[in-house]
Amino acid sequence: MVSDRSPFLGGALAWVYGSDPPVRCPSCGFDWSTTSAASLHLIGGVPDALAELLETGDGMAPPPDGTWNATSYVWHLSDLARSWSERWIQLADSPGARLAGWDPDELARARNYGELPSVAALWSLRTATATLLELTAVMDPTTSFEHGDWGTGTVADGTRWLAHEYVHHRRDVEMRVVQESRLDP
Ligand SMILES: [Zn+2]
Repeated sequence: MVSDRSPFLGGALAWVYGSDPPVRCPSCGFDWSTTSAASLHLIGGVPDALAELLETGDGMAPPPDGTWNATSYVWHLSDLARSWSERWIQLADSPGARLAGWDPDELARARNYGELPSVAALWSLRTATATLLELTAVMDPTTSFEHGDWGTGTVADGTRWLAHEYVHHRRDVEMRVVQESRLDP
């Protein structure tokens, strides 16, 4: 099961979970054997789910522990969707190419996620996700790439990785959004 994972997915899972990656993510329940088609379906449902959460709750409230607020995770997903869309364009032109990496925390600081509004984050995620899904649907899922940290993977692997990001961070938003009934008057 673990042995059939590409270097990219193996490296990604080791980065997330350590040396003994689970079949399902213990935090969000994502099944790491999810197919590409099911991954796209999961990704496609997240923008609406997050819009519903943030329309009834406050995504901007800073967590007491100083970590990202709920809306920051929407920005993170949006930036992931754009970055991987750009990577698909790169790979359509140059299969097997090396993907340039970026640090999500540095990007969050540079973009000032904590002060960017929820309404813009939701628009950004919706448009970026639509583009990602359109591009992924026409990519050959066996097209390979070279990830700087984790090694060789395919478009199918990247799609599964993204599906986990969407599902996992939807849960982060759920946990951090402050529902209006709990706000001070
Ligand atoms: Zn997870």
